[in-house]
Amino acid sequence: MTKRVSILGATGSVGGSTLDLIERSPGDYEVVALTAATNVEKLAAAARRTRARLAVIGDEAGLPALRDALAGSGCEAAAGKSALVEAARADADWVMAAIVGCAGLEPVMAALEAGTTVALANKEALVTAGALMTGAAKASGATILPVDSEHNAIFQCLAGSSVDHVARLVLTASGGPFRTKSRDEMAAMTPAQAVAHPNWSMGAKISVDSATMMNKGLELIEAYHLFALPAERIDILVHPQSVIHSMVEYVDGSTLAQLGSPDMRIPIAHTLAWPERMATPAERLDLARIGSLTFEAPDTQRFPALRLARAVLGEATSAPVVLNAANEVAVAAFLAGRIGFLDIAATVERVLGRMAPAAPRSVDEVLDIDREARQVADLAMKDCAT
Ligand code: NDP
Repeated sequence: MTKRVSILGATGSVGGSTLDLIERSPGDYEVVALTAATNVEKLAAAARRTRARLAVIGDEAGLPALRDALAGSGCEAAAGKSALVEAARADADWVMAAIVGCAGLEPVMAALEAGTTVALANKEALVTAGALMTGAAKASGATILPVDSEHNAIFQCLAGSSVDHVARLVLTASGGPFRTKSRDEMAAMTPAQAVAHPNWSMGAKISVDSATMMNKGLELIEAYHLFALPAERIDILVHPQSVIHSMVEYVDGSTLAQLGSPDMRIPIAHTLAWPERMATPAERLDLARIGSLTFEAPDTQRFPALRLARAVLGEATSAPVVLNAANEVAVAAFLAGRIGFLDIAATVERVLGRMAPAAPRSVDEVLDIDREARQVADLAMKDCAT
């Protein structure tokens, strides 16, 4: 039986890895919808190759070019925010949520409300609206399968066990490109240096998040929502080789770990084939060649983002929405050369200090808080020396 699949964020790093797996066994999949923000050319090419039924570009100005690029292909073209939501709701069996940032929240919610199996890469959606998303999945019968390699590892190590048997979760972190750098050295780091991750090839935003270690902070919040464990039972362990993707320690003292080469096609394939398994072309682990695996405690002095994320975790406030929005704005400003590397976490801390709205009860309230936090972040960044 063919599986009907849609990819939200098809032109990105995770979207590209997902397409790679699907295009290796074209007979097994029917592509329902592919989406992008602005990259018409890449979206249209992927839609033609996969014979997708629908291609959606977020930027409405891109619609004429998308129509032209798809002329004669039989693929429908659409544009705009509501078309992205419709694409997420289209009748797929499996939806890859790989839009970056809070921009992916409304499409993800639409897929969950439709009762679809959602492979979730878009961690910012879960950070900003974790309770609303898990609530929507429960109400509709949708399944959320974690794509993030750490959460996918934990999902595999849990293998359906009750969380009552779990003592703690251990999220591993590579430490990013600045793992051994001092604060003074980090202050001078450029966007090019920040996106040069030692182990993983990823989109620009998550690469900068890895460099500040905000990525691990977001993952802490992600794990809290996905696995429903109290914050104090989720630990972070720096493991520079990125071979162990995370671990589950059980109450009896047994610890299970999931290992693999750092290739996103492995966790994506796990969610694509779940509950079965599928072959991937990912490099096999050669532990004899790797030789040794090392571990370090995380350093919250040099990487304050870890401390900020832990501080907002579990609070019945909108602080995670504020943290995420401020971080998105600050990362974009850093990539554009408007603020320095250390200003990213400093901006997030300032915005968290200036806003304390009540916990959002709906996606609309999340988006209102997100908008306000972005404005406060813009103001806060004016205080940063560039
Ligand atoms: P990329 O930046 O490579 O791709 C982002 C995708 O989202 C692109 O298709 C982009 O379209 C689209 N997009 C961006 N903004 C919008 C918007 N406002 N509306 C609609 N679509 C939009 O990101 P990644 O693939 O690296 O990451 C995607 C998500 O997966 C992130 O949440 C990230 O944290 C998470 N993740 C990524 C991993 C990785 O290895 N890359 C690993 C684990 C999680 P366009 O190309 O047109 O701009």
